[in-house]
Amino acid sequence: MLARHDGPMGRGAAGVPHALVARAPSGFGARRPGVTGKQGWRDIDMTVDLAQDFFSRRWWRGLFTLSALTVATALLAPGFAPLPGGRPAMVGEAEETQFVAAGVGSLAEGSDSGIAMAPNAAVEPLTSAPERPTLDLFARIAPGDNLARLLTRLGASYGDAGRAQSLVPGAIAPGTSISITLGRKNGDVRPVERIAFRAGLDSELVIRATPSGLQVQRLGIAVDATPLRIRGRVGDGMYWSLRAAGVTPQTAEEYLKALSGQIDVGSQISPDDRFDLVVANRRAATGENEAGSLLYAGIDRAGSTALQLVKWTVAGQTRWFEASGVGQQTSGMIWPVNAPITSGFGERFHPILHFVRMHRGIDFGAHWGTPIVAAADGQVERAGWSGGYGEQVRLAHAGGIETSYSHMSRIVVGPGSPVRQGQLIGYSGSSGLSTGPHLHYEVMRGGQAINPMGVRFINRSILEGPALAAFQARLKALLSVGRG
Ligand SMILES: [Zn+2]
Repeated sequence: MLARHDGPMGRGAAGVPHALVARAPSGFGARRPGVTGKQGWRDIDMTVDLAQDFFSRRWWRGLFTLSALTVATALLAPGFAPLPGGRPAMVGEAEETQFVAAGVGSLAEGSDSGIAMAPNAAVEPLTSAPERPTLDLFARIAPGDNLARLLTRLGASYGDAGRAQSLVPGAIAPGTSISITLGRKNGDVRPVERIAFRAGLDSELVIRATPSGLQVQRLGIAVDATPLRIRGRVGDGMYWSLRAAGVTPQTAEEYLKALSGQIDVGSQISPDDRFDLVVANRRAATGENEAGSLLYAGIDRAGSTALQLVKWTVAGQTRWFEASGVGQQTSGMIWPVNAPITSGFGERFHPILHFVRMHRGIDFGAHWGTPIVAAADGQVERAGWSGGYGEQVRLAHAGGIETSYSHMSRIVVGPGSPVRQGQLIGYSGSSGLSTGPHLHYEVMRGGQAINPMGVRFINRSILEGPALAAFQARLKALLSVGRG
């Protein structure tokens, strides 16, 4: 019957029973091929529909089979007994009250933790409970919350909450824990008696109630600002060795970045080399620590010169300087477009003019509309049509260096405006004498075109005279810091 069932359950979701029933005959027949003779077992009419051929031999056989199966099932079935359980014995009203009070009653009856005793014959409710004279509370400022809201939530008066808030300079950092003492209840609210919290590593703010209203006081906490020196073996992985030595992820990153400006951290450092860091650090007398920035990055390399880098500020720019006073190189120029170089600097056969001439720049095979950026900080000298160069931007940089960007489709800077390195100046195109979209990029020194390949890194500051003396005194001071 299941096999013939074609309703919504027979297919789709209930495909499993369907499939099981349909598969059974072939499997069964295959195992017992000789039992049923010529016709096969499938032809024996096992299933009798009792709603057809009433009182025929087949019908009687069906009825007999059904009855026999029913009786057999009844005989084989285990005995039935009621399941254990059910409602426990009823308790009286007095017992119920006691259960509820002790917390073993049902929640629906009002039972809670079992702490409070409900009034009964032995317990009399007081008409008025004695008021707690003061409330000592600890709270933590949540992000977006402020002291006034916190105080009113805890039951302080609006007036006190507002005054306390006005006494706090600036916002309290989220997560700051605050100790609050509220005085005797006056009506529905309590007056603020004392509020204290840490306003920073080096101070605590205390707000107290005085006869003339709330007063604030800042209590200083001694802070030791001796930098921390961290040294250790590089081992298998520099980053994890640094972390294991107590260096924060940010400082470890800064250290690796400082080193990578001078050496190849991946190949020029061996496990036996030793790292050496000096980190700004502030320790409060109460025990808190506040790690600061990296001040010194050194590495002692076996079989190679030690590298000593000090963070030093010259003309408002903070950079890493080697112990000798030579500043870390900064990338002087970047490529103006993200595209492959299709033609280099030098003599070549000109595709349009058809004679050999000097190619004064580099061609980048940039698609139409590719963003073009300034190769270095500078000022827009010229921006507009320039004969065979088409739409061109010319930038003036420090040290008599100029760059030009030609054949552009669109220019987005105007003459005279300052540009930063990497700033968008326009889009590539094929304006002027050009066979297809590309960027013709030129670099000039003193008006002479030079090979842009040769001027990629040019910025290095070198300390001299008093600046060098001050720098070396700083290096000496940093290296005298004991091991933290
Ligand atoms: Zn070119």
